[in-house]
Amino acid sequence: MDAAERLQEWKERLARAAESAGRDPAGVRLLPASKTVPAERLREFFDAGQTVFGENRVQEAKAKVGILPASCRWHFIGGLQRNKVRDAVEMFELIHSVDAAALAEEIEKRAAAAGKVQRVLLEVNLAGEASKHGCRPEEVPGLLETANRLPHVEVHGLMTVPPVTEDPEDARPYFRRLRELRDRLEQASGAALPELSMGMTHDHAQAVAEGATLVRVGTGLFGKRG
Ligand SMILES: *Cc1c(COP(=O)(O)O)cnc(C)c1O
Repeated sequence: MDAAERLQEWKERLARAAESAGRDPAGVRLLPASKTVPAERLREFFDAGQTVFGENRVQEAKAKVGILPASCRWHFIGGLQRNKVRDAVEMFELIHSVDAAALAEEIEKRAAAAGKVQRVLLEVNLAGEASKHGCRPEEVPGLLETANRLPHVEVHGLMTVPPVTEDPEDARPYFRRLRELRDRLEQASGAALPELSMGMTHDHAQAVAEGATLVRVGTGLFGKRG
């Protein structure tokens, strides 16, 4: 299958999942997770109409940003080190992985210097896995409060990566918890948090059923990573 066919297939999958959950398919966006995928291949997807990609590493993204057309937009979905924040602020439309006040404050500093308001999501580690990024659910209200005080940081929602399991249904409770956490935060803060970045190739349907607005699909679109 070529890039256009793969994109079409995944857009239809997400639309079907939205429809069976009674959601408007327009509220669910495909975010290709393009780590390790060469720029030339991304160009095929770009030419087929995909204009936004999600990268995990700042260095790798930098190389690709320099090759793809300037109208291409980039999200950051990996763990962000503070010494990479300046480059990240320069490149990314949305950073999905803010999980600490110090990181939010570093983004504030760099975004202010760049004259930009950086859009971010707060990454939540719902299962408490030590190997994963993300703050604990009970830390999210404080982190949101901190971030909402920063004039060059704009929080648009939450992101999570649930534990890897065989059965995608195992991921559903985590997706539901992220949505419920978002709902509570919206009520408490009065601020809109429209984005829920959740779901990957194998658990996209469960994520969409539970309210995902950004679904990060890697292997389903690009094949197995080498
Ligand atoms: C790689 C990656 C994905 C995509 O995973 P697939 O299983 O290949 O679809 C999604 N989110 C994050 C944060 C990733 O690192």
